[in-house]
Amino acid sequence: MTCADAQPLLSRRRDGALPPGDEAALAAHLSACPDCTRWSGWLDRACRAASAALGGEMSPELATEVLEFAQHLVDTRK
Ligand SMILES: [Zn+2]
Repeated sequence: MTCADAQPLLSRRRDGALPPGDEAALAAHLSACPDCTRWSGWLDRACRAASAALGGEMSPELATEVLEFAQHLVDTRK
């Protein structure tokens, strides 16, 4: 698995369970990839911060928008 494969899976995992094969492959990638580990932690913090700011859980639509924006930031940094 590459980082380009792993990062969409990290986003999807926030929305619900991944297929067991993907979950295992993602866990293996994270254990070997500091970049994706950092990205995963950032996603958690960003979603928690947004939820706190809103006083509750983000809607799935808003969560998707936040993640797309974050992905855009990552893409434009390359
Ligand atoms: Zn990676």
